[in-house]
Amino acid sequence: MAALSFNRTTKTFSDGNDEIVAVDELDLEIRDGEFLVLVGPSGCGKSTTLRMVAGLESPTGGTIVLGDREIQHLTPQERDIAMVFQSYALYPHMSVRGNMAYGLQKSTDLSDDEIDNRVRTAADTLDIVDLLDRKPGELSGGQQQRVALGRAIVRDPEVFLLDEPLANLDAKLRAQMRTELQQLQDELGTTTIYVTHDQTEAMSMSDRIAILNAGELQQVGTPLECYHQPENVFVAGFIGEPSMNFFDVTVADDRLVGDGFEVSLSEESRESVSGTEELVLGIRPEDVVITESTDEPDAFEASINVVEPYGDENAVHMQFADTTNDSDFVASIEGMRRLKEGETVGVSFPEESIHLFDAESGEALR
Ligand code: ATP
Repeated sequence: MAALSFNRTTKTFSDGNDEIVAVDELDLEIRDGEFLVLVGPSGCGKSTTLRMVAGLESPTGGTIVLGDREIQHLTPQERDIAMVFQSYALYPHMSVRGNMAYGLQKSTDLSDDEIDNRVRTAADTLDIVDLLDRKPGELSGGQQQRVALGRAIVRDPEVFLLDEPLANLDAKLRAQMRTELQQLQDELGTTTIYVTHDQTEAMSMSDRIAILNAGELQQVGTPLECYHQPENVFVAGFIGEPSMNFFDVTVADDRLVGDGFEVSLSEESRESVSGTEELVLGIRPEDVVITESTDEPDAFEASINVVEPYGDENAVHMQFADTTNDSDFVASIEGMRRLKEGETVGVSFPEESIHLFDAESGEALR
């Protein structure tokens, strides 16, 4: 086992006359034994990052260090790393046993007995002993997924790289496999990078999340840190479901003024926004408060457009009553609470729940 670090790691592709910066000076350390989830929208550079660790792409700048050695110049076989792909990449003509043993037969000088032992132990861990003589075509998606994992486990590598390994499974199986994967990683204690574009998966599985956008690292932290203290507008909007609401606001003395609402600022907040006039205010749907009346401090009127039930909650889409545009926002309200479409209610954005960002840079101000 070992820690893995990226040091100003960069990958550019040239596409005719254009240069695509897929990964831009990435600085990131994955601790020994850690489960780190790399998350971000399509095209942000997640797979390229993993492929550079596996040796399937060469960085165009910077280094990748595993334990105490630089690995970016090594061939894939010289790195002690196993990767599991979204497509599983199993050999269709080989049995499960053959698929799991193949990498060991090719790249190690273990005896047949030792290889057989390792395959059995991994099959046992993954509960696929009964499937060892079947071919991939005779397995369900979930079973194929286990075989792909088994092939990685038998190698007992220093690092596991998992590229959207659950993407082809249905929702129920995906949830079950998430838990199993976490338990497995816990037992094996192998340093793991798990790539997904699904922020719910990232939030529920990881020790820490690294959030990428357009090749640039946006934030690294525990799921709760990224949720409660997003460092910029991108992270704030990416993490959380339904997404955070954002509004342009200006500072006027001790108040933030938006189009259709105002929020009084505490002394502490005034200090953190001083010198910035144009801000973006963010508030999570679960922090929006439906007030008893519009006489309460900072309450404003909003009309309800659509009530969308999900689980114990409703996502209530609302529109400011007193506004020059038709911008709307979402509040999450307990399912028991009766709210009717078309109804006008009092709403407030409590000062202690709001997030403030510099409108120009997008950086968080507090
Ligand atoms: P997805 O979630 O859709 O798989 P991703 O976050 O894994 O996306 P990458 O596949 O790493 O993103 O791609 C990052 C950027 O690099 C994209 O703009 C992509 O088009 C570009 N890219 C990736 N591989 C190549 C290549 N071989 N040649 C040219 N451009 C590439």
